[in-house]
Amino acid sequence: MKRWQVLLVVVALGGVVLYSLRGAVAVGVMRFALPRMMTADPIGDLPDGLHLTLCGAGSPLPDPKRSGPCVGVVAGGDLFVVDAGSGAARNLNAQGLPPARAEAVFLTHFHSDHIDGLGELALQRWAGAADPKGPLPLFGPEGVESVAAGFNEAYRNDQRYRVAHHGAAMMDPEAAGFVARPFITPELGRPTVVWDRDGVKITSFRVDHAPIEPAVGYRFDYAGRSLVITGDTIQSPEIQRMSEGVDLLVHEALAPHLVALMAQAATDAHLTKRAKILNDILDYHASPVDAAETAQAAGVGHLLFYHIVPPLILPGMDVAFLEGVDDAYSGDMTLGQDGTRVSLPAGSTAIELSGD
Ligand SMILES: [Zn+2]
Ligand SMILES: [Zn+2]
Repeated sequence: MKRWQVLLVVVALGGVVLYSLRGAVAVGVMRFALPRMMTADPIGDLPDGLHLTLCGAGSPLPDPKRSGPCVGVVAGGDLFVVDAGSGAARNLNAQGLPPARAEAVFLTHFHSDHIDGLGELALQRWAGAADPKGPLPLFGPEGVESVAAGFNEAYRNDQRYRVAHHGAAMMDPEAAGFVARPFITPELGRPTVVWDRDGVKITSFRVDHAPIEPAVGYRFDYAGRSLVITGDTIQSPEIQRMSEGVDLLVHEALAPHLVALMAQAATDAHLTKRAKILNDILDYHASPVDAAETAQAAGVGHLLFYHIVPPLILPGMDVAFLEGVDDAYSGDMTLGQDGTRVSLPAGSTAIELSGD
């Protein structure tokens, strides 16, 4: 047998042995990693500043890279969550932003895709936080009370089971679920500060998602850094005003020419209901070019697209989605996906992108 043949046999045998021991290898890796995972503090390890992570960059339409809308913001060491679509809690965990650390949740509006991850988020926060000190505050315009009450009711049996199983000392029944923190929907031109604590200021402002009312966006200010999250909206002068000179604009976007293709295909297939819905959604979202024009006019530091419609599932669809954006906007931009992270360190003008 030649030397290379011997080597081949040795490598093959090594592979077989390793494969047969894979269970033991996995347990060894767990033994090594678990103590580190249990004591990790990924939020505490972040430098002082504003940090934003897309825990959901998509819409109700399934996209493997984009879950339902969810934005995690770390400011002053606290975690805030804006909207919680499907997959929100799981993505936050995977992205080093454990729901147990959530200080509060802010809803932009009550469309299902923005709230359908709320139950899991509240449960994981209740079960994960050592001392949750009351239910998770759920901020939003009028109507948020019924959202909080509905989720609390839906989870009432589960809450009872967990208290019975783990004991009230571990699972404080008084800290389960949500407590609603409604605010009056801001008038146009009259944004409302809805959080002002420890240097973190969160301002709500009105957006235009008609016929959906109320609908708001949020601006975060901390340590001289700033970002705006639009929620669902058409192009809006209010967003431009709120975004003047901000470091980061996180703008929703729907590509009308791509959705129109889907609508036409549905029409041709005689899928009347689907065609109607696809045609209807064209009128209450901003196009990528609309968002780019707003970013250009406001002079933002970076434009991040989220709430991406339609799903970008073919190579090249990202290019088609962004058609015309370069002509409207001369700054830096990112087409968001789950895990896209933007860090705005305090005492700096840096805008650091990662996770793409
Ligand atoms: Zn909506
Ligand atoms: Zn939406």
